[in-house]
Amino acid sequence: MKTCCKCRVSRPLAQFSRDKSRLDGWRPECKVCRGAYYQSKREIIQTQMAEYRQRPGMTERIAKWHKDYSARRFFYKTACNLRLRAKCKEQTATMAEISRLWKKQHGFCVISGRRLNRMNAQLDHIIPFKQGGTDLIDNLRWVHRDVNYAKRDLLDADFFKLCLDVVNHSVRESISPFTERIDLAQYVVNDQ
Ligand SMILES: [Zn+2]
Repeated sequence: MKTCCKCRVSRPLAQFSRDKSRLDGWRPECKVCRGAYYQSKREIIQTQMAEYRQRPGMTERIAKWHKDYSARRFFYKTACNLRLRAKCKEQTATMAEISRLWKKQHGFCVISGRRLNRMNAQLDHIIPFKQGGTDLIDNLRWVHRDVNYAKRDLLDADFFKLCLDVVNHSVRESISPFTERIDLAQYVVNDQ
């Protein structure tokens, strides 16, 4: 319970808004008083906000804020998904670790070398989760979505063998429909 500084009524904390700058973390006035104040000054507040947005350089600053915010949300959401799927909440990589890993990889997929963006990047478990791999940062890396789908629960060695088998078989047999479109022979590793 908290007493509102305006109407002096004691109310549950859910009736107050959060305010990080305050010592106790809550607004001193209740939501009812806050709403009433906003309604009485609505016109003035809206004009002031419009003037603030029209200041020189403000459009760029707002655009930059939104860009940074959505970038932050990407790592935040990835970390949340990781925590949701994990059984033990303490043993997951944090948002800061995930974002540092992205910088370390310079935004490239470690397996395919493809350029990553927010749409096609996924976190891959180096030792697959089903084979006892953890959700800690040491076991994670950013890879291209298609690579992650193809690799699934495979270890690196098995996945590379699969890739080689696919390419070698397609070239040798020339039965695969896509061999007609691209000359796969140039991709095959020469093992004389
Ligand atoms: Zn009040």
